[in-house]
Amino acid sequence: VSEHASPLAALGGVDAGGQNVHVAALSAALARRGHTVTVYTRKDSPDLPPRVKAGPRLEVVHVKAGPASHVPKDELLPYMEELARGMATDWGQRQPDVVHGHFWMSGLAALDAARRDGTGYRIPVVQTFHALGTVKRRHQGIDDTSPLERRWLEPRVGRDADRIIATCSDEVFELKAMDIDTGKVSIAPCGVDLDLFSADGPGESRPRRHRILSVGRLVPRKGVDLVIRALPLLAAEGYDDVELLIVGGGAEPGLLESDPEVRRLLTLARDLGVADRVTLRGQVPRDAMPGTFRSADAVVCTPWYEPFGIVPLEAMACGVPVVAAAVGGLRDTVVDHRTGIHVPPRDPEAIASALALLLGDPALRAELGAAGQQRARSRYSWDRVAVETEKAYQLAIAGVAAGTVPMEGAAL
Ligand code: UDP
Repeated sequence: VSEHASPLAALGGVDAGGQNVHVAALSAALARRGHTVTVYTRKDSPDLPPRVKAGPRLEVVHVKAGPASHVPKDELLPYMEELARGMATDWGQRQPDVVHGHFWMSGLAALDAARRDGTGYRIPVVQTFHALGTVKRRHQGIDDTSPLERRWLEPRVGRDADRIIATCSDEVFELKAMDIDTGKVSIAPCGVDLDLFSADGPGESRPRRHRILSVGRLVPRKGVDLVIRALPLLAAEGYDDVELLIVGGGAEPGLLESDPEVRRLLTLARDLGVADRVTLRGQVPRDAMPGTFRSADAVVCTPWYEPFGIVPLEAMACGVPVVAAAVGGLRDTVVDHRTGIHVPPRDPEAIASALALLLGDPALRAELGAAGQQRARSRYSWDRVAVETEKAYQLAIAGVAAGTVPMEGAAL
């Protein structure tokens, strides 16, 4: 269940990123292992067909839940009951062995649907949060647009789910702080599509001597402004023939400037006198991403916080070193001075120093890039993640069968 993040959506918009990739790749990997997988997502456009066959044993179902148009994810809570009803109706007498909710609101819908069955059989529910409201609030304060109800409904999803999959070790501490029993938490990271992302293949040409790449949804917490702030500092260290390529944001270059975050970043670049070095490209389709990664000397990921972060894995798989803020999942994936360089959060000076080190040393770049590639390949294939996920499903199913998981639990 992935209420706002369809596996079929274009990526890079405000609410379309890692969760979409995760759900698409994980469900495909589970289907490859022989499972029959149905992904339920909200019908967010009138043109969407009710069902799409996405591969062998893999189907995406667009459930009517609220208006058939884009609704920001933080405004979707009122439609979760309708989503739950739609799923339960779709199951009919053929119930799934397990329901997996992605993001807290999908968890609500999953728990609600799993308890709608009148036969007394309780469908096991596994939950992946992707992001936690407590962490978001801590970092975003009054700018957090999550509905107020998230404060009590998200921990409730954590308590009522039969099993939780955390994507990094840091998340387990956060779950504990939410008073959730960590005995039912498994850790399974996100993965990377190793067939698509590899160091072999052409890289696109670049307009300057060096290219630094930032990829992701253009939202303030991704810290792209910090990289722009690092550019004059990098120039002071002698690196001014540098392009910062920013991928993500509005759908087409023509529409980019209508995005307030794009305007903020461009204004900042102008104020700092580095606008000529900053390229905002907008969304890049999946298939073109590897060539873009391969054209970079370094990929910079410096979010304020990061539940997992698939972009660093994609960079590593393409053999490109990563400058990563030492937060959340990035501390697990990027190994300091082995596959990239860690910097403290929100620290443009440290970003500039790390970039200067990498731009000035091609041998170091190659060494870190090769180690990153090796790490991505050996640990982060989606097939491996699917095996870990399957183990969590089995534990949830066994727990429900044995009655060792709480039977109470509220729906919406
Ligand atoms: N992405 C993409 N094209 C874009 C922007 C982003 O394909 O124009 C992809 C990117 O390659 C990655 C995902 O969107 O696979 C972002 O995931 P990540 O976990 O890094 O961030 P999140 O969106 O979960 O915050």
